[in-house]
Amino acid sequence: NSFASLSLHPDLLKNLSTLGYEEMTAIQAQSLPPILTGKDIIGQGKTGSGKTAAFSLGLLQNLQVKRFRVQSLVLCPTRELADQVAKEIRRLARTIHNIKVLTLCGGMPMGPQIGSLEHGAHIIVGTPGRVEEHLRKGTLNLEELNTFVLDEADRMLDMGFQPALDAIVEYIPKQRQTLLFSATFPPQIQSIAKQIMQSPVMVKV
Ligand code: AMP
Repeated sequence: NSFASLSLHPDLLKNLSTLGYEEMTAIQAQSLPPILTGKDIIGQGKTGSGKTAAFSLGLLQNLQVKRFRVQSLVLCPTRELADQVAKEIRRLARTIHNIKVLTLCGGMPMGPQIGSLEHGAHIIVGTPGRVEEHLRKGTLNLEELNTFVLDEADRMLDMGFQPALDAIVEYIPKQRQTLLFSATFPPQIQSIAKQIMQSPVMVKV
């Protein structure tokens, strides 16, 4: 269960051992192989399972730094979680130079976010309402997105983000990888998965 058994970029592997990530957690061992082959994943994982690194390594592996366009979008239920996820992505990406990770969360002023978006980004981590707002305003372009992540999907639905999620999906390419993580799987999650995912692999730990 070592990360070295994966076909990860050598810079990512080197950084993992620097960070002290030796063995994969259960959710990483089960989800990373299909994630790295481009499959859609439904993962059942709570905080502490290592799910953040699982999807982050997947999106970092696919990222082309020279293409300065938003290639990955991670949606989270709260600003606190979005900040945590962005921090973990930046840690895992330390050896990839010039990578730009931007957070777009509600409750924060729009002006600075619009300014940052004008400078460009590779990865956006945000809450659904604010991401939708930027898409409607035309201040965020997701036409070249290749990885779409829903983190804590059940909590996003509990918070009433279903309409925002539905709207966001209309702005992103149909041809993409979708990774959905949730602690629980009520019918509403199953129906979203059916609508936005293609032959997803289920990963339960
Ligand atoms: P998460 O479940 O994604 O919130 O991650 C929980 C914590 O475990 C975070 O602080 C990660 O930095 C850490 N972590 C994730 N994967 C590993 C790993 N394979 N080895 C050691 N620590 C890890």
